[in-house]
Amino acid sequence: MTRFILFYFIALCFIDKLSYSVMSYHHITEPEYYQSPINIIHEEALKHIYPPVEINNLGSEEKFLIINTGHTYKLKGLSREATLTGGSLFNKYIFNNLHFHWGKTDSEGSEHRIDYEKFPLEAHFLWKHFIDYNVPPEFLKESKSRYLKKLCVMYKKQQLSAKHKKQLFSTKHKEQLHTNITSDVGIVNFIKEELDDLHDWPVTVRKDGNVERETIVRTLKLKTFNAIYKYLKWIQVNEAESSNPCDSASNEEQYDFNISEFTSQPTTIFAVIAVFFKIDDNAPRYDALSFANLVTEANSNFTTVQDLLSQILTLVNFNQYYTYSGSTTTPPFPTSVTWIVLRQPIFISHEQLDRLRLLLGPEGIIRENWREVQPIAGRFVYFHGEEA
Ligand SMILES: [Zn+2]
Repeated sequence: MTRFILFYFIALCFIDKLSYSVMSYHHITEPEYYQSPINIIHEEALKHIYPPVEINNLGSEEKFLIINTGHTYKLKGLSREATLTGGSLFNKYIFNNLHFHWGKTDSEGSEHRIDYEKFPLEAHFLWKHFIDYNVPPEFLKESKSRYLKKLCVMYKKQQLSAKHKKQLFSTKHKEQLHTNITSDVGIVNFIKEELDDLHDWPVTVRKDGNVERETIVRTLKLKTFNAIYKYLKWIQVNEAESSNPCDSASNEEQYDFNISEFTSQPTTIFAVIAVFFKIDDNAPRYDALSFANLVTEANSNFTTVQDLLSQILTLVNFNQYYTYSGSTTTPPFPTSVTWIVLRQPIFISHEQLDRLRLLLGPEGIIRENWREVQPIAGRFVYFHGEEA
């Protein structure tokens, strides 16, 4: 019995270690590992039953800005009343916009793929949730003190004269100094090496279906990383020429006074519901797409007050979907998105799809506005629903 418990304990540690190392800080700060869209392999998705997806306050009085952004056809919600919760989301999200991705022929257009299959159109319902989080000032203080210590070691090692030290901090010499900790790359590497030791994060990522937590952890770590980066850069720029990094007494208080500037910044996370469309000329005509002929020119727009979301959202099937943590698919590709990708496509007529294909961007017709699939890179994709 004891042996069994011991084995169980070791196995648990191993599983935890494994999933944590996949999602370690080093990866978390490198957005290229958590990009979207992805090709979803159904067989590899982990089965997980989530609570029902809940969409509320759709209402008939929603105010929309309909806009051809030059990249997509977008319905931006101006009333901000519709909310999304449930499914793989614990927080409540506010509707922001609905937009579309299409291609020049019916054989492409969607961003996500299921078992390598592409669809001619993919709709994205994007929702936002605001996180009230301040980077703890002690994170910055401790990073500062470690940074100055490391700088002191280097200072002693190189036995820099005052003149050399001045040179070390001057931006002119950045290129030559790109490997040491006073350069941009140097500070980034310094934070990556030190931060895991510095701070015991309250949450780790486990293989438990909580993809929203992955999104939150990554977003907050990235926010902390950016705050420390900005703070150390500020110290570097404001480093007095006469001060010696080894003189801890003079450095201890010197750079603390404006820490709050670096700690409090708004943080937003996103949830996106992705809906695939297939062609069927008997498909319903969607009100949400019926304004495309009024915004043919890039950046043209107008506003309307009506319910443009319910029609599509009542047709889609929330009983089968994939969910994972990734990024937006347009620059700057922040990795702050929990995706809910519905497995079952709905239908659209050629006539309505072709109307999107006439929209103009800055360089003529928007022929294709989908992004290539990105590596899954150790992420878990979950599948909610009964097998077909
Ligand atoms: Zn999109």
